[in-house]
Amino acid sequence: MVKDSFKHQGWRSQMIQMLRDKGIDDEDVLSAMRSVPRHLFLETMLDYMAYEDKALPIKCGQTISQPSTVAFQSQLLDAKPEMKVLEVGTGSGYQTAVLCAMGMKVFTVERQKELFDIAKERLMELNYYAKCFLGDGYAGLPEYAPFDRVIITCGAREIPMDVMSQLKVGGVMVIPVGGKSQEMLRVVKTGEGPEDFLKQTFGDFKFVPMLEKLDYGKVNR
Ligand code: SAH
Repeated sequence: MVKDSFKHQGWRSQMIQMLRDKGIDDEDVLSAMRSVPRHLFLETMLDYMAYEDKALPIKCGQTISQPSTVAFQSQLLDAKPEMKVLEVGTGSGYQTAVLCAMGMKVFTVERQKELFDIAKERLMELNYYAKCFLGDGYAGLPEYAPFDRVIITCGAREIPMDVMSQLKVGGVMVIPVGGKSQEMLRVVKTGEGPEDFLKQTFGDFKFVPMLEKLDYGKVNR
């Protein structure tokens, strides 16, 4: 396995400057992203591209979001250390690691078994203590609710109401909603009723779709 090196740290510093240039100014997000070795969440042959502002392929036809998107969603989340955060779409585990590095208690759900297995092991090896679950993010994690924050890292057709019900009143959900491209929403829950939330929009993004049901993949079928 490739390790972290001065070369990678140098690339990471340049990435942080790029994020600042793009308007990211939350120092907690920036220092977390300075500390997490993104290249270790990718296949070795993509090592040299790990700190460019690009979404890159991971297994099962999925992608790791580009650094500016990870930073933007993390900043919109407006979370404090020790908060309980539900992430839907573990993927490579990179966003999970960034939230852990920010001091949050992270519960992350992935529907594809192969990605779940790899991310869980990788996060453990790198000492990011997230709780990883194989499951359908549309159902959330009722047994661990309520959450202070929810971050969805795949494109949802609509706001998943089961997940909304697992958010604390006053809590925030950051979620891309739409079809081929999605609008980034920041949803603040204002009460326990199904209509009790406020939405703000933050421009268009392109995520892989949020799909229903588990996928055990070819490997385990
Ligand atoms: N946060 C990830 C981004 C991965 S891409 C990272 O930093 O790498 C989005 C992921 O969401 C994919 O791995 C996809 O399999 C997963 N996904 C899609 N629909 C889902 C669902 N309903 N529940 C859980 N995960 C889902």
